[in-house]
Amino acid sequence: MENGGKGVLYLVATPIGNLDDITLRAIKVLKEVDLIAAEDTRHTLKLLNHLDISKPMVSYHRHNEEFRCEYLIKELKEGKNIALVSDAGTPGISDPGEEIVKECIVKDIKIVPIPGACAMINALICSGINTKEFCFYGFLPLNKKNRKEKLEEIKYINKTIILYEAPHKIKNTLEDLKKILDKDRKIVLAREITKIHEEFIRENIDEIISKIDNLKGEMVLIIEGNYEKKENSLCELSIEEHYKYYKEQGLEKKEIIKKIAKDRNVNKNEIYKLFIDKEEV
Ligand code: SAM
Repeated sequence: MENGGKGVLYLVATPIGNLDDITLRAIKVLKEVDLIAAEDTRHTLKLLNHLDISKPMVSYHRHNEEFRCEYLIKELKEGKNIALVSDAGTPGISDPGEEIVKECIVKDIKIVPIPGACAMINALICSGINTKEFCFYGFLPLNKKNRKEKLEEIKYINKTIILYEAPHKIKNTLEDLKKILDKDRKIVLAREITKIHEEFIRENIDEIISKIDNLKGEMVLIIEGNYEKKENSLCELSIEEHYKYYKEQGLEKKEIIKKIAKDRNVNKNEIYKLFIDKEEV
């Protein structure tokens, strides 16, 4: 047996609504493992029944994570293969998983991902907002001070921002975001992804707030990054560094000159004169 007779921990992604969103490999793993550790065993039982799988299960959630982790590690060390699943989506993403993974690494136990649904990725790809760079914040903290700090961070970040929120807290979160976001910042509310009432609302924050009382279900918020600040801070660079910044983004000389002139609010001919003789800066 590989790995010194130890078992394998499989992190198995499960559907986020539509039960068809389970991979063939996930089904195979769930059928073959010795044990399934589930965030809520009653919830996972419905999925297993749907897949016609019968398997021993133990609960693994944030209230028993520590002592259940010890038990699972013991079983893995004895050679049992275990699948970890959460109620929906990818384990470890705003769901239990991170702790046992860390422990497995310490104990030299093999960890295998079984990819599948994840609400934030599916909300992001349909949002129409920059997918090249993004920051996932999960749920905003409830503690007043921590929440304020996080919102302050979000205000200035120049990457797409992704937030999870519970339906009964979404209005409050949108009101808090309104205080820190400039009016025309793009925001998308992705609702009930993969379910019957799946919807992507691409409007400004005021419009989303005006509708929110009538919206139900699970929601993800995708917020455009603060690119404004980036552009302002570019003016603090030397003109050569400013040029280099756009050059590194792959822009052509003509386009770079136009952008620098716009950022610095000067006529583009002035910038052009500075770079006229230079092939490369
Ligand atoms: N592990 C999960 C994943 O991979 O996406 C996330 C679990 S987290 C406890 C639950 C949050 O994910 C919800 O409050 C909501 O923000 C988001 N979510 C889960 N399923 C969703 C769906 N079908 N549509 C929109 N958001 C969803």
